[in-house]
Amino acid sequence: MAPKPSSMPRDRHEELVRELQAHDYRYYVLDDPVVTDAAYDVLLRELRAIEAAHPELVTPDSPSQRVAGEARPNVVKVRREHRMFSLDNAYSAADMVDFDRRVDEGLPTGEKASFTVEPKLDGASVEVVYEGGRLVLATTRGDGAEGEDITINVRTIRGVPCRIPHQGKLTLRGEIVIYRKDLDALNVEREAAGLERFANPRNAAAGAVRMMDPREVARRPLRALFYQLVEGPSLHARHSETLDWLATQGIPTHRLHVVTPWEGVLDAIAAIDRARPTYPYETDGAVVKVDAYRQQGLLGATSKFPKWAIAYKFPAERATTKIRDIVVQVGRTGALTPVAIMDPVELAGTTVTRASLHNGDQIKALDVHVGDEVEVQKAGEIIPQVVAVVSRSREAGSGHFQMPSSCPVCGSKVVARLREVDKPELGAEAALRCPNRACPAQVQGRILYFASRPAMAIDHLGESLVAQLVEKGHVKDVADLYDLDEATVAGLERMGKKSAQNVVASVQASKERTLDRLVGGLGIPQIGQVAGRQVAEVGHTLEAMLAWSPDEAREKIASIHGFGPKMVDSVVEFLRDDAERAVMQKLALRGVGRPQPKEAVATEGPLLGTSFCVTGVLTRKREDVHLLLRAAGATIHDAVKKGTTYLVAGDKTGKTKLDQAKKHGTRVVTEEEMDRLLAGETLPAAS
Ligand code: AMP
Ligand code: ZN
Repeated sequence: MAPKPSSMPRDRHEELVRELQAHDYRYYVLDDPVVTDAAYDVLLRELRAIEAAHPELVTPDSPSQRVAGEARPNVVKVRREHRMFSLDNAYSAADMVDFDRRVDEGLPTGEKASFTVEPKLDGASVEVVYEGGRLVLATTRGDGAEGEDITINVRTIRGVPCRIPHQGKLTLRGEIVIYRKDLDALNVEREAAGLERFANPRNAAAGAVRMMDPREVARRPLRALFYQLVEGPSLHARHSETLDWLATQGIPTHRLHVVTPWEGVLDAIAAIDRARPTYPYETDGAVVKVDAYRQQGLLGATSKFPKWAIAYKFPAERATTKIRDIVVQVGRTGALTPVAIMDPVELAGTTVTRASLHNGDQIKALDVHVGDEVEVQKAGEIIPQVVAVVSRSREAGSGHFQMPSSCPVCGSKVVARLREVDKPELGAEAALRCPNRACPAQVQGRILYFASRPAMAIDHLGESLVAQLVEKGHVKDVADLYDLDEATVAGLERMGKKSAQNVVASVQASKERTLDRLVGGLGIPQIGQVAGRQVAEVGHTLEAMLAWSPDEAREKIASIHGFGPKMVDSVVEFLRDDAERAVMQKLALRGVGRPQPKEAVATEGPLLGTSFCVTGVLTRKREDVHLLLRAAGATIHDAVKKGTTYLVAGDKTGKTKLDQAKKHGTRVVTEEEMDRLLAGETLPAAS
């Protein structure tokens, strides 16, 4: 039987912190979770509710703070106690033999070293310091001597334990990475939100660690894997033993290292190279280290790197093929992307025929022409890139490819828009966009997106069918789908009576999807499925969202946990846009989207049967107050209406709210009075 939860808030808080951390450990370190994400969220919510009522229990290392931090105001540089070195590189067996010889020369005559061989993780390096069992500092590599303080960002990484058993000072180095599968999911999200896909996990991770707003960081599926002890207990004589010890402290490591005498090193490197595709993260080489700390000390370091370690770099996977054509694709958001169509070629285990050329500048920089023989590379990217021209062909008609000045689909004059790139040092980059919202390519993209699995999941609505529906003018926006009849669909190419029936039936069936899928499917910039769900939770119905005034909309959306200013602006603007509103109204009229179920309500608690509306500025986040009230059995009303029991009036409560309260006989209480109600007290009769 599970132990009974403690009833004292402080004890329960401690219990929850431990429990959440144990789940993080199972998930991120052992890769073997024992609870669902939903069950995890329930615990986290309870923790937040306790912290809302007892702010003194909130510590910076509480699991609740992983997503709650405020943006840091500026970049703070930290001088490190131990310089953070880079690694010497090797590219061949001969380089490795040289390394072994240098190690031999650096050790007393006749003494042999043994080596650890481990994967070289391809991400962003980080140093963390634990003191008294708590994470107190995290820094980037910077110039080695000095790094940037990114502690609040690293605290958002659930796999990095906030507390460890070891109490002494512990300084570790590691790599912040994104697993391949997590990047795929993130890219689906980003595409959904109208953002650019990340080309590879390294860029996504490196861009994230230095962001100023930890709420944005928390949205990236970052992990940290540690590979080196810099300062800590002298428990072990060898690096390999320390890696094992770190795992017992709940600290994630790559969990893959072999210890071998020199004779086994090259084989171990080859084994890592072969196993690379099976690792969850990107690996760009193998790191070979002298295992014994005493020997490391004897070997020392140059001004740039330790003499006891070396990175063996694997060559990137490349292939050569010929460019047949360059086409320009127009996406759902109107973005124009040049794509090279190539002779099929085998690359990193798959056959590829298309490679992204990114933009016109890239084409010029590479000087790529149709007919050229090119080298394509896949170094962690999802989509292969053209990296170089191998042999040029200047056959008739193979002039320089120019990005079109009008949309290849609808002919509108294209506009340049600045798009954000994830490398702040590069600044913004100009991209071309078709500004015509009615452009068939965009309409088609929006409909396919709306119908896709994570959104409304409308079966039988394939690409060629949607193309025909748009071309023939049967469908101009997503709401028109719901007016389609069998006769219209049956009249299209390759459409029998039976398939037409299927199409119409699945469109109609999708009316039953809940609001979260609908909101996620609208393609609101910055808002993917996860954020869409959060928006739906505060909106409940499409009608309610359409009825919000812009101020109301801003207030509601800004109260959503983890929403930064950009996301809030995006939703508010979308809800104000006439064209978008018209589509949403059409959807509402056709009865699309079921109301979002409210969060499960407590079945006991001192406030059971009461309802609250919370307004004005309180000492805590409104969302947290809501959680607290719900946990005590109360229902939350977004506005004061008939039957609202209490109005909690914070600072700057509007007169309308107070008038409404008077009208409906709702009792107005202060935040402090609310706390007493939460504690089960009864208030003296109102005067
Ligand atoms: P480089 O950036 O090419 O000079 O390579 C050095 C960097 O490799 C280090 O600063 C670490 O960030 C990174 N690295 C990745 N995996 C490991 C590992 N297993 N051991 C040591 N360094 C690693
Ligand atoms: Zn167009």
